[in-house]
Amino acid sequence: MVQLEQNYDVVIAGAGAAGLYAALHLPPTLRVLVLAKREATLCNSALAQGGIAGVWNSPDDNIELHANDTRIAGAFTNNPKTLHILVSEAARDIEQLVEYGVDFDKNADGDFDRTLEGGHCRRRIFHYRDSTGAEILRGLLAQTANLPNVTISEYTVMSRALKTETGFSVELLRGLTSDETLSRDVVDCHFLIMATGGIGRVYEYTTNSAIATGDGIRIAYELGARIKNLSLIQFHPTAFNNRHTRECFLISEAVRGEGAYLRNCNMERFMQRYDDRLELAPRDVVSHAIILESQRTGSRDFWLDISHEDPEEVKARFPKIYGKLMEQGYDLTKEPVPVYPCQHYLMGGIDVNSNAQTRVDRLYACGECAHTGVHGNNRLASNSLLEALVFSRRAAQEIAKEASDIGPRFARAEFPEITATEPIPHGIRTELRKILQENYFVIPNTENMRAAYERVTELIQLIACEDWKMDLDYLEAKSQATCAYLILEEQL
Ligand SMILES: Cc1cc2nc3c(=O)[nH]c(=O)nc-3n(C[C@H](O)[C@H](O)[C@H](O)COP(=O)(O)OP(=O)(O)OC[C@H]3O[C@@H](n4cnc5c(N)ncnc54)[C@H](O)[C@@H]3O)c2cc1C
Repeated sequence: MVQLEQNYDVVIAGAGAAGLYAALHLPPTLRVLVLAKREATLCNSALAQGGIAGVWNSPDDNIELHANDTRIAGAFTNNPKTLHILVSEAARDIEQLVEYGVDFDKNADGDFDRTLEGGHCRRRIFHYRDSTGAEILRGLLAQTANLPNVTISEYTVMSRALKTETGFSVELLRGLTSDETLSRDVVDCHFLIMATGGIGRVYEYTTNSAIATGDGIRIAYELGARIKNLSLIQFHPTAFNNRHTRECFLISEAVRGEGAYLRNCNMERFMQRYDDRLELAPRDVVSHAIILESQRTGSRDFWLDISHEDPEEVKARFPKIYGKLMEQGYDLTKEPVPVYPCQHYLMGGIDVNSNAQTRVDRLYACGECAHTGVHGNNRLASNSLLEALVFSRRAAQEIAKEASDIGPRFARAEFPEITATEPIPHGIRTELRKILQENYFVIPNTENMRAAYERVTELIQLIACEDWKMDLDYLEAKSQATCAYLILEEQL
């Protein structure tokens, strides 16, 4: 494990696209600590398949068309200011990725091959095969490794944070590969950036990685930040449905973009009953249609079928999806594969302004844990990697300005001691996940919402009595419960 200093100018909680891109845009004079809960490659960014949307050197496209598609997907509830920033600054950040060596696919003419996804009226999705996120993360990690002012500390969990007169004290638990080596550290900083990603693990079934328990949202809430629209959750319509794995492998929207059909339990196409855009309707519309079709047919069996397209092209375009499905016994090029909606993305989060500032002085948030308002009620495919980049860069630029007025002193806050050795009772996290899955899925269970909320409140009180051992299980349960509470509270 890397050696930590007692203080840093900036602590960034999160080493996904948002956290790393912020680190890359901070001035080299600032000492920066970037935290990853597990290995840096375990995050939602690494899972992104489809790509990153943006208008860059595209004669038949323009930022107004991109903004309009985003508004249609978001039901016209998007924040106009942050949306304009998102679409108009996309080109510079995509170009920056290319300069960092990120290898987007090109066509035979040597131009970038842009793909189409649901809700986009133009082919504007830059991608690297079907592993765009992993390729972007590779590029960002390689670039960050060149920065002498940035330290990345893996297996380091931000457990609590307190405000001080000069910034924040941040408590860290390190060495989470095994309980015996767990150690506690406190670092002080002038600025704290939350870039902790999504909340998928609050659900039974999600496409999100294991780190997505909403820790940054919980800690920002404890610090007094406003949490907004946490109940705006996107359910992806086509997760691979093997009926038993909690982390569901996503079959990218781009597969429908390249011509795949959705079929019901009778192997019939059914989207024509629900939307004129058929399989290319935005993902909330498709998820909704699947649930309604499931109620109509009485079956939860749904299929994604691209077997009518050229097998070699499908394999070349979706090598990762093809390989993963082969491991599960399905040949995408020859047969339909079982799919069903599951939790995928959070539109709400820690409320920030257009420079990623929260209402707490010197606390910033960017990426999936932040609420910039760009997506409105529903995110348009491939806009989230873009949001992570644009607003983490703006956070870094704002900090660069603010930092010039800050003195060298670092105050320290004392954390209340937790001495308990008893682990948190077994089953709390399972119950929390079940409550959300059953009551706040694609079509909310309005009748049971209050009972669900009251049970989550009881679980929060049980966790909050602080009589439990301070380990990852305890911290994640606390984060999951806080997120579940805030989601359900918005629905009452
Ligand atoms: C399967 C899948 C496919 C997707 N496909 C696309 C796509 O094609 N296009 C698109 O635009 N978006 C896509 N998305 C969404 C997009 O990937 C994410 O919204 C985006 O990558 C989030 O980036 P982030 O940096 O905010 O979070 P992440 O990449 O999830 O990073 C979070 C970081 O925070 C750290 N962390 C969390 N808690 C703590 C803690 N307590 N202490 C220390 N560190 C902590 C983690 O270790 C991690 O390093 C997809 C998402 C998934 C799950």
